[in-house]
Amino acid sequence: MNTVKTSKISIIGAGFVGSTSAYALMLQGLCSEIVIVDLNKEKAEAEAMDLSHCASFVKPVTVIAGDYKDTANSDIIVITAGVAQKPGETRLDLINKNIKVFKDIVPQVVQYSPNSILLVVSNPVDLLTQIAYEISGFPKSKVIGSGTVLDSSRLKYLISDYFEIDSRDIEAYIIGEHGDSEIAAWSLANVAGMHVDDYCHKVSDTCEEDFKRVIPEKVKNAAYEIINKKGYTNYAIGMAVARIVESILRDENSILTVSSLFEGEYGINDIYMSIPTIVTRDGAKKIVEVPLSDSEKAALVKASEMLKKHIASSEL
Ligand code: NAD
Repeated sequence: MNTVKTSKISIIGAGFVGSTSAYALMLQGLCSEIVIVDLNKEKAEAEAMDLSHCASFVKPVTVIAGDYKDTANSDIIVITAGVAQKPGETRLDLINKNIKVFKDIVPQVVQYSPNSILLVVSNPVDLLTQIAYEISGFPKSKVIGSGTVLDSSRLKYLISDYFEIDSRDIEAYIIGEHGDSEIAAWSLANVAGMHVDDYCHKVSDTCEEDFKRVIPEKVKNAAYEIINKKGYTNYAIGMAVARIVESILRDENSILTVSSLFEGEYGINDIYMSIPTIVTRDGAKKIVEVPLSDSEKAALVKASEMLKKHIASSEL
């Protein structure tokens, strides 16, 4: 009897983010089949060919370019299609163009993979995850956004760089919107079990008063800076996608700041945003209602109101 569990991931959008996500999934040996779909079929074919040529260096995985019917019975559909930010554009500027793209994509992926988990990456990711949830009719746990998983990694990297310690030994989260209103939840940040303030004052050789202002500014502006210099971001988001996929496929119960639907947490309702969330084989199992400071809570509520206004004024 074949007891090997195979996993199929479909990636919609073969651009910088989609192709790098496929590459990250491949390198980590996370699935046995990857299907890439793009309006630009030649681009999807070229990416699938190039990725297939990794075959002798990675665990067995079939990578094909295909149509929606080829995505049938996917475990996870990763949506990276749509318009990306140009220098000077915010993520929220993309909403109306990408809503059109989602109206095209979501019904088709749902038709062929009714039991899949939708992982939305396209921006503005929180609003598009909400729109994918509404169009798909899937349970809320099965529609998640990559949210601030990437931003939290940027935050951890910058803290680790500042204190000259391993990024993996830092626990810190960016919460709220993946965008300009994002919040560094300093009240939760710790190093070696110590609150970051204690680590800074008692252990670190460097501890300037304004590190908690400077670091989040750098996190917030990271994508703008990279896009200004090279036109797109791809590596860290590709790894963030692979990390979320890993937690789903391996049923890890990992706590990740994916974008999930708030239903009463912190008094916030009916909006997708990021907050530490337990991620399992069934998707976003549970929001962890972490204790936030009053100012962090107020910023989270303000972000939710801002996102709701954008949904209300969008061309849905
Ligand atoms: P890109 O322009 O390189 O790729 C987008 C791809 O989508 C193109 O190949 C295009 O042909 C395809 N596409 C457009 N409409 C389509 C449709 N209806 N069906 C199928 N394919 C379609 O852009 P990119 O740099 O890969 O970025 C993709 C998205 O990811 C953007 O919205 C970007 O802002 C977002 N992004 C999100 C994060 C995050 O943290 N969530 C990080 C980086 C980028």
